[in-house]
Amino acid sequence: MEYGNSTENGIGKSNGISNGYGIGNGYVNGHGIGNEHGNGNGDVYGNGKVNGEKVKKMKPMDSEMLREQGHIMVDFIADYYKNLEDSPQDFPVLSQVQPGYLRDILPDSAPDHPEPLKELLHDVSKKIIPGLTHWQSPSYFAYYASSTSVAGFLGEMLNAGLSVVGFTWLASPAATELEVIVLDWLAKLLQLPDHFLSTGNGGGVIQGTGCEAVLVVVLAARDRIMKKVGKNSLSQLVVYASDQTHSSFRKACLIGGIHEENIRLLKTDSSTNYGMPPKSLEEAISSDLAKGFIPFFICATVGTTSSAAVDPLFPLGKIAESYGIWMHVDAAYAGNACICPEFREHIDGVENADSFNINAHKWLFANQTCSPLWVKDRYSLINALKTNPEYLEYKVSKREEVVNYKDWQISLSRRFRSLKLWMVLRLYGAENLRNFIRDHVNLAKHFEDCVAQDAHFEVVTTRYFSLVCFRLAPIDGDEDKCNDQNRELIATVNSTGKIFISHTALSGKFILRFAVGAPLTEEKHVTEAWQIIQKHATKFIHNKKN
Ligand code: PLP
Repeated sequence: MEYGNSTENGIGKSNGISNGYGIGNGYVNGHGIGNEHGNGNGDVYGNGKVNGEKVKKMKPMDSEMLREQGHIMVDFIADYYKNLEDSPQDFPVLSQVQPGYLRDILPDSAPDHPEPLKELLHDVSKKIIPGLTHWQSPSYFAYYASSTSVAGFLGEMLNAGLSVVGFTWLASPAATELEVIVLDWLAKLLQLPDHFLSTGNGGGVIQGTGCEAVLVVVLAARDRIMKKVGKNSLSQLVVYASDQTHSSFRKACLIGGIHEENIRLLKTDSSTNYGMPPKSLEEAISSDLAKGFIPFFICATVGTTSSAAVDPLFPLGKIAESYGIWMHVDAAYAGNACICPEFREHIDGVENADSFNINAHKWLFANQTCSPLWVKDRYSLINALKTNPEYLEYKVSKREEVVNYKDWQISLSRRFRSLKLWMVLRLYGAENLRNFIRDHVNLAKHFEDCVAQDAHFEVVTTRYFSLVCFRLAPIDGDEDKCNDQNRELIATVNSTGKIFISHTALSGKFILRFAVGAPLTEEKHVTEAWQIIQKHATKFIHNKKN
């Protein structure tokens, strides 16, 4: 074994065993020189002495330690993915632990001295992993997936390793320039209009999450309107979205000082498949204008969180344009699918939007977190968010062309997230990414067909992407009983640990959601999931007959 006299996975007994002096009890970087009691004269990562010998001081970032432990960690993670596929019985998809479980099994305080990685990984296996809900399990069908990939993982690894902080161009020119370029690439794959590209007045920025994306554009739009109508107009500002809009919109408005009663969440129902009706928007705006309110922001969604509903961007954008209202398009989940020509129509009309956002960590295999946001006019964002402390001032030639991403987001520090997006795009290529997405959509269609063929169930909304909304059908029109049965069904199914699905409510109905998007999911997992659901539904079906 390369790591000297260590055992098993390279971190042997030699590591972390106190030498009796209570010092130098760190990790022994064997290379054949530490002995099993850790008191060898090797490269010890501990301060002080080992058996009276002065040893090297511990370095937080030691390249050799990184190499050794990094390999071990990659093996550990690769084994995790392999086991998720090969031994699903050991990994209940929805964690089965009870609240507070971890406090009972971890010490009360942090260790004073280094502990070996092997021990730590043992704890991860025995204490942490049981408390995980396995989002990457092939039988994970809840919420929307958090899609990972080898390329995304490697990008995260490189990001963590290089650990630069590109808040200004100067702070790490490549971090800024790669982000500009990669978001132009992605904008082209999505066929976004040219004004969202960095070559025009717009451009892209990677926010951490969809919540951050909507917050910064609400702030930009608020700043723009208040410059026009005056600083004291805050209480008159009104915003619009549908009642299906993600809760982050309300939060963003409240952070932005918009009065809660001025947040108009327009009612949707099954007649528009839960998309926002343009007529309701037009009426709400007219009514607000008549009362002296100032409409300034519309949040449209392509792929709502509940049911993947699609707001009709084209008519909504026309209304926004005619009233000079900022329109944001939240396409956190479904926007990713729009790199496929056959799904692109769902964002037709985006040309009238002021901003557009997708979560590449949801369905573009870019690992948590990565939320590209494009704006039509970058200066509206920069004017709202820029700060210029002296300590960040610098001079470059061609200064006007320089992007300082600190002025496009809330925080100052920022991760080099474009690396992983660049790696995902390069290591797979657009055509593979399109096919990954198509596979998921086809798997969802397979599930939908299964549901449709069973008379005891019903598909509840039109499926556009990889989410199926369904339920056990009501018996004799008894909606209350139907809701209770579906509640019980999902609880039973999820408690098996074999699959995890989630739920929502639409028009007062309790709905089950089956969302495909985990990277390991194959047809057999979908078929098995359906069999599990059917099996646990027999109880209600039997009751029906009685
Ligand atoms: N918008 C939509 C439509 C979503 O579905 C979600 C999350 O599921 C969000 C926004 C929030 O995204 P994030 O969790 O990245 O903040």
